[in-house]
Amino acid sequence: MEEKKSHFIRQIIEQDLKTGKHQTVITRFPPEPNGYLHIGHAKSMCLNFGLAKEFGGRCHLRFDDTNPEKESPEFVRSIQEDVRWLGFDWGEHLYFASDYFEQFYQYALELIKRSKAYVCHLTPEQIREYRGTLTEPGRESPYRNRSVEENLKLFIQMKNGEFAEGECVLRAKIDMASPNLNLRDPVIYRIKKVSHHRTGDKWCIYPTYDFAHCLSDAIEGITHSLCTLEFEDHRPLYDWFLDQLEDKIPCHPQQIEFARLNLTYTVLSKRKLTKLVEDKIVSGWDDPRMPTISGMRRRGFPPEAIREFCERIGIAKSDNLVDYAMLEFCVREVLNKTALRFMGVFDPLKVVITNYPEDKIEELDAVNNPEDPSAGTRKVPFGREIYIERSDFREDPPRKYFRLAPGKEVRLRYAYYIRCEKVIKDEQGRVIELHCTYDPATKGGFSPDGRKVKGTLHWVALKQAKPLEARLYDRLFQVENPGLEEKKGRSFQELLNPKSLEVVQVLAEPALFELLPGTNFQFERIGYFVVEQNEQERFVVNRTVTLKDSWAKLEAKLNQKKK
Ligand code: ATP
Ligand code: MG
Repeated sequence: MEEKKSHFIRQIIEQDLKTGKHQTVITRFPPEPNGYLHIGHAKSMCLNFGLAKEFGGRCHLRFDDTNPEKESPEFVRSIQEDVRWLGFDWGEHLYFASDYFEQFYQYALELIKRSKAYVCHLTPEQIREYRGTLTEPGRESPYRNRSVEENLKLFIQMKNGEFAEGECVLRAKIDMASPNLNLRDPVIYRIKKVSHHRTGDKWCIYPTYDFAHCLSDAIEGITHSLCTLEFEDHRPLYDWFLDQLEDKIPCHPQQIEFARLNLTYTVLSKRKLTKLVEDKIVSGWDDPRMPTISGMRRRGFPPEAIREFCERIGIAKSDNLVDYAMLEFCVREVLNKTALRFMGVFDPLKVVITNYPEDKIEELDAVNNPEDPSAGTRKVPFGREIYIERSDFREDPPRKYFRLAPGKEVRLRYAYYIRCEKVIKDEQGRVIELHCTYDPATKGGFSPDGRKVKGTLHWVALKQAKPLEARLYDRLFQVENPGLEEKKGRSFQELLNPKSLEVVQVLAEPALFELLPGTNFQFERIGYFVVEQNEQERFVVNRTVTLKDSWAKLEAKLNQKKK
């Protein structure tokens, strides 16, 4: 793995430690438990947990659970599982914003006492209308100048459930003419008669994200509060809250914004991912086509590949769209070094080796991983009848086609050289069988007389091969930037890749069937896979990523020349 690139956030932290502004680094990863984590969250985790580790500090895992309608314990559980799987550890520092509800309430009372907050009875529509626009200042609410006593009384009534939902809110008293709309008396508490997954019915008022988030950071003593760019305009509001309550909070965390990750051929907004799940376009949050951490786990992406990807994309201040191919590149890099190799035939063509003894079965030695000698070897059965891939034979081969063709010789991986002597066809003229001869002197796939062949094919022994189900996953969307297309008015449905999942039967060598679920492997010359299910009579694998197919590339080039 390459050396870490530095970036502006790391430089700020280095400086803060050098000048003594901070003695230690405390960051946090603050997901809202309203969905599963995705690759964008991985970027944030690598940054927050990564920096804390690098500087000997700590990173909290804090659930930002202030929106009870959309949150659930299932999401809390899945998030913890995914953070751990990615290789991060919050130690004892697991927190919930909901644990601070009493404290937030006290802070709100304090703001009221300082004439910095008021209960407002405007309807949500009126509040919006009074807010003004980017070009016009807002108007002050008629409830803005209520007395402290009246506000205290009303807010306590709100808390005690004496008002209906939507009847009133608590607002910060800042500046209705501010050029920053976030400062035009934002709502900080609203009534929601909804049970919370942790506090039950204890509360019927809930703080807004903006109020709760900066105060949670302050309560936990966060030194560097890292967030995505869309919160840049909220920073003055956070600073305002923290300044008003300066004598009541342990510290004033510094917020630093960075660009969120966008990835081609997918969406990373939780609203859109939720829609994919709810509309049953995918099988669930952990569908292997989802850009979620759990989807990628089922797809067979190793955690170190995801971390390496996050390292490579770096941290910057401007929004960008990262090519999905870069993530696949990182996955291949890890799997190339670690995945065991096996042979499996996806579209079988029978080959009879006519000069090979009828009943003989040989156990040949096959290399488990050419990149890792310590992975050892295994036995692969070989016999007179085998299957090769139909695409590895051409009756009328184009130039530079180095696979099997009439009269041509190729190597069977780990076995022998064979030469195609005869092509057998059915009545429709379709090739159904090849008759070949083998050279017994080429055992292991090498010729003692130095005779070279260019093509090496994978194969399985006809009698010993066993069937399995392979799920071939591809991109979920057929357009590079589905979020943008959707904005232009196109529906999700028409943007989806109709071939994002294809299920095929594969005949594979026996040793493969011993692998446990979750094990990565490579089908030689085909791609990387992971075992999804290994039960009696049912063996299912998911395709993680294809290998780069050099022949497909060459063919594409040739086709282009022809045009
Ligand atoms: P959405 O906006 O899609 O609802 P979110 O940002 O609200 O997602 P949270 O659960 O609040 O989701 O996110 C937790 C943390 O992960 C936040 O600090 C957020 O900034 C960060 N994060 C979320 N999405 C991305 C992304 N695409 N790239 C980088 N960081 C992200
Ligand atoms: Mg959020």
